[in-house]
Amino acid sequence: NPSASKYDPIKDACWKQGEKVPYVALTRTLELIENTSARLKIVEILSNYFRSVIVLSPNDLLPSVYLCLNQLAPAYEGIELGIAETYLMKAIAQCTGRTLAQIKVDVQEVGDLGIVAEGSRSNQRTMFQPAPLTVSNVYTRLKEIGQMTGSASMTKKLDKIQSLFVACRFTEARYLIRSLAGKLRIGLAEQSVLQAMALACTMTPPNQEFPPEMLNVSKSLSSDAFKQKYDETALIIKTTYCECPNYDKIIPVLLKEGVDELPKKCKITPGIPMKPMLAHPTKGVQEVLTRFDGLKFTCEWKYDGERAQIHLSKDGDISIYSRNQENNTTKYPDVINRFKNTRSDKVESCILDCEAVAWDNEKKQILPFQVLSTRKRKDANEADIKVQVCVFMFDLLYLNGEPLVQQPFIKRRELLRENFKQVEGEWKFATNLDTTTMEQVQDFLDESVKGNCEGLMVKTLEQEATYEIAKRSRNWLKLKKDYLDGVGDTIDAVVIGGYLGKGKRTGTYGGFLLACYDQENEEYQSICKIGTGFSEEDLQKHTEFFKEHIIPQTKSYYRYDSSLQPDHWFEPVQVWEIKCADLSLSPVHKAAVGIVDPEKGISLRFPRFIRIRDDKNSEEATSAQQVANLYNSQEQIKNQSTSTKVTE
Ligand code: ATP
Repeated sequence: NPSASKYDPIKDACWKQGEKVPYVALTRTLELIENTSARLKIVEILSNYFRSVIVLSPNDLLPSVYLCLNQLAPAYEGIELGIAETYLMKAIAQCTGRTLAQIKVDVQEVGDLGIVAEGSRSNQRTMFQPAPLTVSNVYTRLKEIGQMTGSASMTKKLDKIQSLFVACRFTEARYLIRSLAGKLRIGLAEQSVLQAMALACTMTPPNQEFPPEMLNVSKSLSSDAFKQKYDETALIIKTTYCECPNYDKIIPVLLKEGVDELPKKCKITPGIPMKPMLAHPTKGVQEVLTRFDGLKFTCEWKYDGERAQIHLSKDGDISIYSRNQENNTTKYPDVINRFKNTRSDKVESCILDCEAVAWDNEKKQILPFQVLSTRKRKDANEADIKVQVCVFMFDLLYLNGEPLVQQPFIKRRELLRENFKQVEGEWKFATNLDTTTMEQVQDFLDESVKGNCEGLMVKTLEQEATYEIAKRSRNWLKLKKDYLDGVGDTIDAVVIGGYLGKGKRTGTYGGFLLACYDQENEEYQSICKIGTGFSEEDLQKHTEFFKEHIIPQTKSYYRYDSSLQPDHWFEPVQVWEIKCADLSLSPVHKAAVGIVDPEKGISLRFPRFIRIRDDKNSEEATSAQQVANLYNSQEQIKNQSTSTKVTE
């Protein structure tokens, strides 16, 4: 079990220049990462591995990145692994001669099928030792497994799993099984992978002669010139990834042409979803006017549906992506069919930013989000669709071969209106008002609520008005009616533990422990216990769901006080939208600890469950910094009101 400082991916895995990367070199790296909690150290460990790959076997960089992320392809291609544990147990039993019952008992005890698989290998009976696994081979097999569909494919899948499993050495079985189950979960966030790539490319620029003995020579990370280069490289890689979240495109350019070519070669492209621009919460019209003092801005109704990024590529393909870059095309066959009704003949390719909203065709009005959420999520048949949707278009990001994101919103909006038209009940432009007076904004906000909207989005028009991909920008402010006097926004928290119910709630969970996500330290910090807002049906549903995600002990990246110890810990797999009365400093909760107060965290008072946020993954939950911002702005308002009282 080599320590981070002594670990040498080349010697440890007997890996030579030009050869394929042995899988064990990757799994040893994953093991080290799993045992490390400091983020900078994790980035260093992973970048050492990437550097070795860049120099010795560059073709394996792409499969290495995918395996680290437990992905097989970009999210929007929808190729996923998530083989049920019972099948994996069967495969392990058949390869090792252990009984299914023995394996089940071990899993109950250890709580991790990966570790049980690794331990079971000592029983393995093989006639001959298969060739060692390589990263590229494992990746290819996993992708084949991920692409097989239908129940008849299960036997073929099992064959492939077994042939990989019998060839496992050392820790390989642990990570192979976890990858197959779709649960790598070693506490490695995508941002760290991008950061490690940047560090590796700064220290070991791809496509240059570099003697292998240089690999572990620690460069002076503290030199200013190095730091500057590292920061620039990280910025280019991260920006490119936001515009073109596709490693299949990025990594070959990185390897063959270098980092500087990325912005030219991996640009916004219809067919590849980009990360959306996000808004800042505010708590009142006054706050909006203060922020936008001297700037031209517009107010738009804020529709409560599902974000839809609609792409038309030059070859005529139309696709729809979610806030999370998932491919929702087959969810909306009706919208795809009607696209011709809105676009003018001049539009050959485009990317539209929109909100798909449930629509009552008879009353010609917007229906609440809850109605939209009953729509089938995949492969909807147009004839069976019961919930109609109307698409509200609010931005145009790309038109006829040209990205528009650097143009001011006023220009993008003009192009949107010139090239697309409204169609009753199908396509509408977001209702807007360009004004600067407090009264008009206030009236417009009231109207939006009467129109079944959540409030307003207020956006800059001319200055500071570019489309900021993947950013929570201050050029977009959200003003939610419900939160004007309170917090300004709902909180999206990750469920990390459950408390067993008592009395009427026996048999289900009666409460849950929730956390925000701290991007700085890549950890989940407890923010509140919650037991209200649930119907009995909700509790049943959550209990069923989380039964499949119980882990035997807490994770190294969960931060909480021991007094909050739940009955069961869960994998961080689901995000809930939570309403609360306000945020307060807390002696036990750890959210945003160190940001507002050196020791105390922040907790939510009177939290209520609103809904599951399927369109957010756990790393997209409300961040520690956002929690701190919400807390601080609430304190400012309180102070203002006390000072007004004093002067009165
Ligand atoms: P956050 O990460 O900010 O919490 P969220 O997904 O929870 O984002 P909201 O806080 O509700 O979303 O606000 C932003 C969302 O509002 C956008 O992602 C979009 O789906 C929706 N929306 C509705 N109307 C508009 C509009 N006119 N302009 C921009 N976004 C709009």
